[in-house]
Amino acid sequence: MLKLISFVLLVVIMSGCGTNNDLKVKSSLYQSVTPDKAVLLQKGKNKRYCARCGMKLARYYKTNHAAIYKGKQYQYCSIHCLEEHLGKGVTLKNPQVVDVASLKFISVGDAKYVVGSKKRGTMSRVSKYAFASLDDAKKFQAKYGGEIMSFNGARKVAEEDFKFKRKY
Ligand SMILES: [Zn+2]
Repeated sequence: MLKLISFVLLVVIMSGCGTNNDLKVKSSLYQSVTPDKAVLLQKGKNKRYCARCGMKLARYYKTNHAAIYKGKQYQYCSIHCLEEHLGKGVTLKNPQVVDVASLKFISVGDAKYVVGSKKRGTMSRVSKYAFASLDDAKKFQAKYGGEIMSFNGARKVAEEDFKFKRKY
């Protein structure tokens, strides 16, 4: 019996180690850029952080979104946080997204989203990466899979993240 308990303990300790390794992997996320490469559209002391969840924008830069609400510029870590803001019933103007290829902001209307690729997403199990050029989106899709969609298509998938919360 004692042996069994030590075995269980060992397994628990080992899975603890696994978690530590995962944390190390997270420090080099696909969506991260060095702070000097991140375009910050927001102003003020919190400009480096997602307006909704507070995560570092440079760390999740390749999924960053931005929009204007009541004349003020907001920047989000991801379409998830943009969608969360919209869920409050607000009207957001000039929605933009980072083009993964050029790291510049583009209008969401011009973006081709690759949804559900093997590259992990931000704040969501289903990743969504946007490109200005359809060619770039197709190249990414050929490497990592996923489906190419418009902004509205990507939004519908992002809304799924909130279904559980909104039901109750
Ligand atoms: Zn966020």
